[in-house]
Amino acid sequence: MIKKLYRLFFFLSALVFILLSFIYIPFHDFDSLELKENISYLASDKIGGRICGSEENDLVAEEIAKKLSELGLSPLSPNYKEGFQITVPYKTNDKGVLKIRDFSSKDEIKTFSYGVDFKEDLLNFKENSISLSKEDDLKVFENALTFKKNGNLFFFYVPKENNFDFRSSFINDSKISFSVALNKNTFTEIVSSLNSGNEIFVELPYSTKVTEAFNVAGKIEGKDSSLKPLILTAHFDHLGTDCLNNVYCGALDNASGSCFLLEVAKVFSSLKVKPERDIIFVFLNAEEFGLIGSEEFAKKHSSLVSGSQVINIDMIGAPNTELSAVRSEKDKSTASENLEDIKNLKENLEISYEDSSDHASFSKYGADSLTLTHNDTSKIHTPDDKLEFISTKALDKGFNLLSKKVSNYCYSPFSRILFNSRVYILSFLICLVYIFYKSVSSIKHKKKN
Ligand SMILES: [Zn+2]
Repeated sequence: MIKKLYRLFFFLSALVFILLSFIYIPFHDFDSLELKENISYLASDKIGGRICGSEENDLVAEEIAKKLSELGLSPLSPNYKEGFQITVPYKTNDKGVLKIRDFSSKDEIKTFSYGVDFKEDLLNFKENSISLSKEDDLKVFENALTFKKNGNLFFFYVPKENNFDFRSSFINDSKISFSVALNKNTFTEIVSSLNSGNEIFVELPYSTKVTEAFNVAGKIEGKDSSLKPLILTAHFDHLGTDCLNNVYCGALDNASGSCFLLEVAKVFSSLKVKPERDIIFVFLNAEEFGLIGSEEFAKKHSSLVSGSQVINIDMIGAPNTELSAVRSEKDKSTASENLEDIKNLKENLEISYEDSSDHASFSKYGADSLTLTHNDTSKIHTPDDKLEFISTKALDKGFNLLSKKVSNYCYSPFSRILFNSRVYILSFLICLVYIFYKSVSSIKHKKKN
């Protein structure tokens, strides 16, 4: 009788092992080394900082769309790409001009050196060529000066340690019409010259135009499309290349998050079991221009977005930094199931409330949204945000957390047992032990005879 039970137990284990083999053999394991290689491509000089409106940005959108198609995700719109109109900055020249001139004769008194004495910030280019004097409502502060002319506000400032590396986001509807960084000596010289009645002439090497840019989205279809989907997002744009050929490669911000999301899509699309609800992957554009891509997506799909849980990944893989959650400012006193789930998966989760990334657009359209981030801002928006500061260990930790959330929220308990590699390994070990036991007993049996 006991022998029969053993045999039945072995038979069941063998069956589980064979069935699970069908699930596990095509299963793609999260691969942080391959992921880091993909980040290195997005953060390469060839991709030039993938600023919205550039050829390289379009190329990345195209490549993500191709990848989603290869993974077998269903498109939300034809070709996976969703276009929208946007105002973008573009280069008109390879350097800017800053001069002190005589107010009446316009004779040149001094010309400053571009990139050494001054440099434009990316913030805005409502005007790019103008002369300014103390007649133009000049206000002088300790390390900044402002002018108002024809209803426009012009801003000059001295950055910390005279360092021009930091590049702001481009904000088309900013109150400031342009922003220029000056080193301290230039600042002092300009202020004294303006006070003695001269003017400055500024010409910046950028203008703006309206163009079409693309978000990219695809989904793993669930069993029940009436359930609200889980929406996973990450922005793939960054800040481009400046006129001094500094590439703002944005390895952490957010080549990391967009490649991470692709890897997550690769893992979950390789599972042979359908989730209960749809899992939607959205690669957002123009985050750096004031969350424009996410606003466009959330507005277009507002009925889908409203009431759904959204997890946005912005900056993942910074070593020695704990993952933290960011929710929209307006969600400070709103309950969030999404956040509770993440809190249950990570002890001492740090939470902040800022509209600093794309979660804010989704929250505006009624989603339960949050951003997960390794919020190391030490190199952010500078050419130093490089691949070498990204750790595979931190990426693995991030996946460990997110995959648990996705499994718990999107898959049935039975499916979760199937994905549990421990069940697979255990069934294999039982088969192995049984075969070993059978061989030993048959050898003993032969010896006896
Ligand atoms: Zn970002």
